[in-house]
Amino acid sequence: MTSNTAITAAAATSFSSLGLSKQLMEGIEALEFTQMTLTQQVCLPDVLAGKDVAVQAKTGSGKTLAFALGLLSKIEIEAKKPQALIMCPTRELAEQVAEQVRLIAKRMANLKVVTLVGGMPMGPQIISLRYGSNVVVGTPGRIMDHIGKRTLSLKKVNCFVLDEADRMLDMGFEDEMRVVMHHLSQNAQAATRQTLLFSATFPEKIKSITDQYQRDAKIIKVEDGQAAPNIEQQAYRISNEHRTQAVAALLTHHQIESTIVFCRTRIETRELSEELYQMGFAAAGLHGDLEQSERSQVLARFANKTVSVLVATDVAARGLDIERVDLIINHRVSEDIDTHTHRIGRTGRAEEKGLAITLIDDAEESRLDEIAAKTDAKINKLHIQGVRFHANRIREPEYVCIAVDGGKRDKLRPGDILGALTKEAEIPGEDIGKISISARHAYIAIKARSVKRALNQFREKRIKGKRFKARKL
Ligand code: ADP
Ligand code: MG
Repeated sequence: MTSNTAITAAAATSFSSLGLSKQLMEGIEALEFTQMTLTQQVCLPDVLAGKDVAVQAKTGSGKTLAFALGLLSKIEIEAKKPQALIMCPTRELAEQVAEQVRLIAKRMANLKVVTLVGGMPMGPQIISLRYGSNVVVGTPGRIMDHIGKRTLSLKKVNCFVLDEADRMLDMGFEDEMRVVMHHLSQNAQAATRQTLLFSATFPEKIKSITDQYQRDAKIIKVEDGQAAPNIEQQAYRISNEHRTQAVAALLTHHQIESTIVFCRTRIETRELSEELYQMGFAAAGLHGDLEQSERSQVLARFANKTVSVLVATDVAARGLDIERVDLIINHRVSEDIDTHTHRIGRTGRAEEKGLAITLIDDAEESRLDEIAAKTDAKINKLHIQGVRFHANRIREPEYVCIAVDGGKRDKLRPGDILGALTKEAEIPGEDIGKISISARHAYIAIKARSVKRALNQFREKRIKGKRFKARKL
């Protein structure tokens, strides 16, 4: 049996109303979160009470923290065997979730979070599992591999999270989800285990999973109407052969620091990003044909603002925690309303008004009208004739990017790199932007004038006793 609640507003907004441990409260403070998001307000009481919950809430509503607090508040660090298992559809999402769990749990000494994702060797994952891990975050395929090899024990798992469940179904992971839940249903914790499901949409299949694997699940739909008024929507009528030109014209017209352009297919994404790049934009494509490392690199560069135009497919961008941008361009109208809503929801930050522009030819206009009617949105239709592409008005990123072949694996931290560049190479601090570090790479945003000096530093000197290869991207 399930109960259904649709929620649009709630009362208590402060984390202190939740009765969390001191360590978790300190973790939240360190992240500088002062208020719960609406999604957190409505689901955390049930999550913390140990109930099975299925939450439908849109991307960016803070679902990760909601389940992270739930599972962390049940962990016994001494137990050494995984007590929480989180399944995510993609490697990037798994990495992001693991990162957030680690941040929240910063004050929980000795808590170990392990990520099990494909494309990485099994060996180190097996070792991490063997030496005691409390929280496991992984993708379906790799979790299954470890279960098959008996290197991942599910015996003590008392909290199981399906994150982005709709996306996992879209990607064809239904069998893997069911097999893992079947394994879990046979373990010693089965009677008391909590199963949490998070999803942006709620197709029939999700209901069936909820009915079959969750106990008396409470289904919570969070309808957050706040984002809509903050987004201005425009449409430009164009003829099909002028689409690329129109995107370029809009980019030089608005001159925004970071823009996301959504395309419907991988091919369109690749072609458009290449064309924009040829025209002189700091553009990069994000789509399923890229290697894992290429995708991480694109995301890191968009985040550190050395790529200013991200051209993405819906599938590649969905669920990712990409900072909201001021301009979204829909290269074509979305197939469906949900996709359109997801896309435009990437703009409209808390304070500022976001702009979402959709390009339409004659055939697409009626679809956009339908979307506007069903979402109760007002979309201004404008003529592209007044908007021209000017090569000399392309907004150049403030920084360029240096990629370093060394990352967390090599115990590299942003501070080590910053120290080497500012103290040893004597590069002024203001020339260095964001430094982000993934498992195997580091990405440094740096002013063009200091690139040479930085590359020399990497070529000639060591960091933490090691020499790292670095190159300008
Ligand atoms: P979702 O999974 O719902 O798409 P995320 O969990 O990825 O959303 O959160 C989106 C962003 O919001 C993240 O950058 C996260 O750090 C931030 N965030 C989450 N909770 C809060 C909060 N209570 N206050 C401020 N920011 C938050
Ligand atoms: Mg999420």
